[in-house]
Amino acid sequence: MEYLNTLYSGMMIPCFVLTAKTIVLNGSCRPAASRATPGIHRPQPLRDVPPVRAKIVVRATDDVISGSPPNERGDDSHFFNREVHVFRVGFGYDAHRLVEGRSLILGGVKIPHHLGLAGHSDADVLIHAMMDAILGALAKGDIGQHFPNTEPAYKDMDSMVLLERVMKWVHSDGYRINQLDTTIVAEKPGLSPFVEAMKQRLSKTLAIRMDQISIKATTTEEMGFCGRQEGIAAYAIVSLVAESVSS
Ligand SMILES: [Zn+2]
Repeated sequence: MEYLNTLYSGMMIPCFVLTAKTIVLNGSCRPAASRATPGIHRPQPLRDVPPVRAKIVVRATDDVISGSPPNERGDDSHFFNREVHVFRVGFGYDAHRLVEGRSLILGGVKIPHHLGLAGHSDADVLIHAMMDAILGALAKGDIGQHFPNTEPAYKDMDSMVLLERVMKWVHSDGYRINQLDTTIVAEKPGLSPFVEAMKQRLSKTLAIRMDQISIKATTTEEMGFCGRQEGIAAYAIVSLVAESVSS
């Protein structure tokens, strides 16, 4: 990594979970003035810096990393013919009121509880936060724009079906989910017994392994609307990776 740091000093290089496989990235990088190494890249405003296109080859084992610059690997001109956003990141948040007479559905799993979440669809607050995170990563607006709560077709809709639609946009834009991290904020009920079942359902729709999905649950120690059991909130952050990047 030291070699790559020297070689590509000043460029923004995305971080990867390194495995024993070869990772080949074809794309464009833009020098980050704020990270430039003194003496190698003079700091300058980012807007004045033209994009630098680079091929980055990383061969990684658990503890050995080496790289080769493009100019040592022959003619790489065919790698420079298109712009690729290697990574995208999105953040999502949602909250719904807890009411009587509704089912509590989180992550596509029905949770036994005397209260459920109110909403136009099934009010699966976790999936809604995930969808907003994914839409954010794609820069495609939010779920309110795509699935308005005034549309009768979405009345009591299974949010997993809506997530499937969002995933089609992920794939049609040339991406796949890299990782998803979420937090559900609920004073009650305790959710840890249901997390594995949520991951199982979500991994199928998201087309990723269960170990790429994180679902955490927390309380607010009786503070705020979640603490008073007036509602449940969820946060989600997702990273997408270009499908052309080897996994
Ligand atoms: Zn919602």
